[in-house]
Formats: sequence, C-alpha cells, structure tokens
Amino acid sequence: MAVPKRRTSTTRKNKRRTHYKLNVPGMVQCDNCGEYKLAHRVCPECGSYKGEEVVAK
Ligand SMILES: [Zn+2]
Repeated sequence: MAVPKRRTSTTRKNKRRTHYKLNVPGMVQCDNCGEYKLAHRVCPECGSYKGEEVVAK
C-alpha cells in the first residue's frame, strides 16, 4: 500500500486548504431594507420583491 514518504507540513496543509471556504449561497442584500436575503426570493424582513411588490406584512 502506498504510504506518504514525508508528512505534510502545517504550512503545506494550510496552503492546500486556502480554497476551502465557507460560502453562503445566493445571499444578496434586499433593495428595500438592505437586509440579507436569498436571491430570487421575497425578502423575509419586509416582504418586498424587486423593489416593491409587497407580499403581506
Ligand atoms: Zn427587505
């Protein structure tokens, strides 16, 4: 079985992991209240979509 000849140093390991990032999918700021909301969905804070189109509240 293949075994690594050298142990991976902390630096090398961390460099490799620079691409491992947390990402919040499709979060955009609401046009109306500036709150973060999911893109292409009605804002849960103020109930607006595309500027106005107020749904309830
Ligand atoms: Zn809003």
